[in-house]
Amino acid sequence: MLYSKMFIPTLKEAPADADIVSAKLMIRAGMIRKLASGLYEYLPLGVKVLKKVENIVREELNAAGGQEVIMPLMLPKELWEETGRWNVYGKELFRLKDRKNAEFCLGPTHEEAITDLARREIRSYRQLPVMFHQFTQKFRDEIRPRFGVMRAREFLMSDGYSFHTDEADLEKYYTVIFEAYKRICQRCGFDFRAVEADSGAIGGSFSHEFMVLADTGEEEIACCTCGYGANSQKVACLPIENPAQTPLKLEEINTPHMKTAAEVANFLKVSQKNLIKTIIYVADGVPVAALVSGNHEINELKLQKLLGADNISLANEETVREVTGADVGFAGPVGLKGAKIIADLSVLSISNAAAGANKTDFHLKNLNYGRDYKADQAADIRKAQNGDICPVCKKEKLNFCRGIEIGHTFKLGTKYSNPMKAAYLNAEGKEILSPMGCYGIGVSRILAAIIEQSSDENGIVWTDNVAPFEVEIIPINYAEGKTKQAVDEIYSTLTAGGLDVLIDDRDERAGVKFKDADLIGIPYRITVGEKGLAQGVVEFKRRKDPKEATKLLKPAAAIEEILKIYRRGI
Ligand code: ATP
Ligand code: MG
Repeated sequence: MLYSKMFIPTLKEAPADADIVSAKLMIRAGMIRKLASGLYEYLPLGVKVLKKVENIVREELNAAGGQEVIMPLMLPKELWEETGRWNVYGKELFRLKDRKNAEFCLGPTHEEAITDLARREIRSYRQLPVMFHQFTQKFRDEIRPRFGVMRAREFLMSDGYSFHTDEADLEKYYTVIFEAYKRICQRCGFDFRAVEADSGAIGGSFSHEFMVLADTGEEEIACCTCGYGANSQKVACLPIENPAQTPLKLEEINTPHMKTAAEVANFLKVSQKNLIKTIIYVADGVPVAALVSGNHEINELKLQKLLGADNISLANEETVREVTGADVGFAGPVGLKGAKIIADLSVLSISNAAAGANKTDFHLKNLNYGRDYKADQAADIRKAQNGDICPVCKKEKLNFCRGIEIGHTFKLGTKYSNPMKAAYLNAEGKEILSPMGCYGIGVSRILAAIIEQSSDENGIVWTDNVAPFEVEIIPINYAEGKTKQAVDEIYSTLTAGGLDVLIDDRDERAGVKFKDADLIGIPYRITVGEKGLAQGVVEFKRRKDPKEATKLLKPAAAIEEILKIYRRGI
């Protein structure tokens, strides 16, 4: 491909609203443009990378027995009502009406659609197991679209759904997909972890997230040297036993305007871990008080699960006043009105604790469980944090780092086949609900994630298997006869070897070509000039190496070096 024939509108500067390195570089490299919040256009270079990633995913899923389908993007409301998700999915679901006023949504995910297909078409155990997968645009009205294509409102997802005769077969297949996802990550060149995760709005009993390690990642993951890894939201916290002390007399102390745990602890001269934070939530319309020690935070997901609530949010000022009888900031476990009290396992053993007095500008000191307050339930409702011990080996301290979730696999069981009655007949002619798995990987998010892990101050550094072109040839002057001949020969040999090659044939200064080459990040570069050719050599450079690592090689040796790398594959 000739550079002059391809639309690659590179930019010196990124637009001011590009909020992350990958978004800046994708725009500057002429891969994407923004149409509106969370909506992006992919230009030819962007499409090339997207297709390369899509093909890696396709190859791995087909090798894992998947069969590709394409489902409609617009889905009837009735299907979503069968599973209850028309309501549960909330504002993230894009809804629309046709001319007859029938309601639809733009698919954010396709469990309902595929389960409907399966219940119509799969009759017998002989047709199982089966795995359908597709590559389609997904639509989600994200609260905060950001980070370019990483959190967009329309994006390309590979989603797969498998149907099985029983749980054992699902379990077996889940590991096949798990391995396929790992290979996808390896082929993309990721430094990644597959971690235990929460199943969120998709549901089911068990799930893993594939996390690309990056400081800019929106997720926090916890890992242990014992091999355990989980989304930090999901990490079980071991109970904390606080040393018992002789109970002292309960005191009420005036603490004007002191609201934060640190301010109160400082004023009362107690350590933050001896403070009980009381946070008022509303779960499905009902107020709940959650207690956690001052040096910990509530994990809302754990609390929501414990309560079995569809929705949970912090109570507004009015509710806080109703429940505590005080301004926000002075809630405590003594004398709450109309709220169930859930205490974290770190709380009940605190002797002589401090807490809000449910009276504006007052706190209580020397609070002891049983004597002064009671909880309706004690459970693990706190966030895991630095210093916590691994819940699996129960020995080592957890390590926390940030990650970008690029894929998610779920063991769904009969979460969808049950309400939608996706059943098959077994060998005895009995109707059985089919257990399901589902697997989603964000093809467009992968592009951004690769760049988050692989770029430098000059631009993108594509990994070998996903680069839009594997090789860029830069002729110093393509119009020059000998140079053109040498370039064309190198080009033919590399393309005959199955590689995608870009020739920068533009009538530009070498400096401009090198700058653009660094920006668009093609992994291997061969520079051909009259001077070098006179000595029988070309310049060979890997994008990831520093400038000094440029080698002078005979054209055949440069070609061989590159072909060797790609022949090795991954
Ligand atoms: P997140 O927690 O980041 O919102 P999710 O849990 O909603 O992700 P899934 O429903 O599991 O995501 O979707 C599968 C994959 O689709 C994700 O792993 C991610 O790669 C991709 N994805 C999800 N939401 C977006 C989005 N708004 N923009 C781009 N890709 C996305
Ligand atoms: Mg989401």
